[in-house]
Amino acid sequence: MNPYLPREAEIVERIQESDNTFTLHLRLTDDRPYSFEPGQFNMLYLHGSGEVAISIVGEDPAQRLLTHTIRVLGRITRGLAALDVGQCIGLRGPYGRGWPMREAEGHDVVVVTGGLGCAPSVSIIHHILEHRDHYGHLSILQGVKHTDDLIWQAQYDAWAALPYVDVLLAADVADPQWHGHVGLVTALFSQLRLVPDKTIGMLCGPELMMRAAADGLHALGLPPQAIYLSMERNMHCAVGHCGHCQMGAKYVCRDGPVFPWPEVRELLGVRGY
Ligand SMILES: Cc1cc2nc3c(=O)[nH]c(=O)nc-3n(C[C@H](O)[C@H](O)[C@H](O)COP(=O)(O)OP(=O)(O)OC[C@H]3O[C@@H](n4cnc5c(N)ncnc54)[C@H](O)[C@@H]3O)c2cc1C
Repeated sequence: MNPYLPREAEIVERIQESDNTFTLHLRLTDDRPYSFEPGQFNMLYLHGSGEVAISIVGEDPAQRLLTHTIRVLGRITRGLAALDVGQCIGLRGPYGRGWPMREAEGHDVVVVTGGLGCAPSVSIIHHILEHRDHYGHLSILQGVKHTDDLIWQAQYDAWAALPYVDVLLAADVADPQWHGHVGLVTALFSQLRLVPDKTIGMLCGPELMMRAAADGLHALGLPPQAIYLSMERNMHCAVGHCGHCQMGAKYVCRDGPVFPWPEVRELLGVRGY
């Protein structure tokens, strides 16, 4: 089968999450099966323009729905934003190595995200809630530049109400009504109650934030191999052929996007990588 051939996916719902971020619920129009691992991504194809890599937020197998949350950045995401319910795009995937959900079984999990980094982290949270008996305590730390950037507030409130989940929020710049921390997401680490040898850290967001968060979790006692990061690179083929997403000796599309910290530690935030 040609790995570059997209399947057709119809937009069945479109939600405007904020000024520049929207969510698409997509239904594949063929009958072929589809399943994904938390942390994997799809290539979404805007007809006549090209493709973008977008993390899979979730799926509803009963309704054959796939969810993607997208921030408008350039040509293709702007084009995707202009589409409406009933229109079709192309979709190929899922691709990549996802989060270490099997290795994390029996552990507490700390999820640290920045900005739209929350999109790939939602699949972790859904997985843990669906397989409750397999995991310990879940801490969700989300940082945003401005409180207006925080999407899914109702969802965070619902997670925070669960007895085995802590949700800690931070904003660099906050509205007067903001109840969370004002400042960097890493400042929230002082509120964590960690059992370091029983905890896995999962980080996604801007690279500088992930570097600081990995250092911070390590300082709290987590071993480097218990910390995982989801990397982003400009991507084209998504199947390890073209080299666009190369990062040192790794291809983010094939070897990642999720990496154990020791595999990318030296390259994090280094200009040119
Ligand atoms: C594994 C993976 C998962 C992703 N998940 C999501 C997601 O869930 N939601 C979401 O909104 N976005 C996600 N992205 C980012 C998304 O792929 C890019 O924003 C998109 O490709 C931009 O395409 P564009 O044509 O709109 O912008 P372009 O016109 O192609 O780009 C605008 C500018 O951004 C730069 N750029 C584009 N893509 C990237 C990138 N990946 N890394 C660094 N710089 C880039 C370009 O070089 C250019 O300067 C993900 C990327 C990867 C690799």
